[in-house]
Amino acid sequence: MTNNAPIKRLVHDNFTIEGYSRAAVQTYWRIPEFKLGFDLGAQPWDFMGTATWFVSHTHLDHIAALPVYVARRRMMKMDLPTIYVPDHALAQIRQFLQTVERLDRGRLPCALIPVSAGDEIEISREFVVTTHRTAHTVPSIGYIVWQRRRKLKPQFRNLSGEEIRDARLSGVEVAAEIRVPQVAYLGDSRPRGLDDNPEMYRARVLIAEMTFVAPSHRKDLIHKHGHIHLDDVIARRDRFENERVIFGHFSTRYHDRQIRTIVEKALPGLLDGRVHLWL
Ligand SMILES: [Zn+2]
Repeated sequence: MTNNAPIKRLVHDNFTIEGYSRAAVQTYWRIPEFKLGFDLGAQPWDFMGTATWFVSHTHLDHIAALPVYVARRRMMKMDLPTIYVPDHALAQIRQFLQTVERLDRGRLPCALIPVSAGDEIEISREFVVTTHRTAHTVPSIGYIVWQRRRKLKPQFRNLSGEEIRDARLSGVEVAAEIRVPQVAYLGDSRPRGLDDNPEMYRARVLIAEMTFVAPSHRKDLIHKHGHIHLDDVIARRDRFENERVIFGHFSTRYHDRQIRTIVEKALPGLLDGRVHLWL
């Protein structure tokens, strides 16, 4: 199938980050192995198979393709998709879909589920998604995907299989749940969105934005517009515990080569090679 929107891929251990993000153009990400994605600023044809999406905020470059995506799934007779959206915008997003339904004379069947900061969404036995308040020019939500595993409690680790089974049969809880933050998605945000949600610094993979990189783009102006500047990242360079930090959503006023040159000069070694510029 022809592809109508660029996709960049990064394999990390046992999962893949796919997507693209450029400020004011389009933002979409997904992790196919986790069966979920973030934002619907455009919709590459191949992304249709992912049935669960989390929308960070309602700027057009993050939500414009919502009706396109829903219509494609209906056309291909796929299951109803589930789309989580910031709760303040639910009614208007419904209206938006209804308007498109009337214009297009086609139904747009989907489950729209409102979220607000502090929610915990169980999407499968294996995965839980938590929602986090970020700091943009419209209300916005960041997401963390946690993988759950059952792990034997320390006092049972040296026992034999039989002893553990006996303990379990006698009603003792031998295992405890551990959660690993696999992927954090910041969306568009001022640096406060990271600082207020320190778990994001601990996720194995952090997908963040760095809209501005040039020294001439004054920081305070940028913060008023709800974005992150390279200088903010430098100021926090010791906070990133992530195995990988993906920066995207660069302003279209920069060329790719310019971004790479500026960032590599300011962050020599790109935090031990953990920083990926999504260009
Ligand atoms: Zn935005």
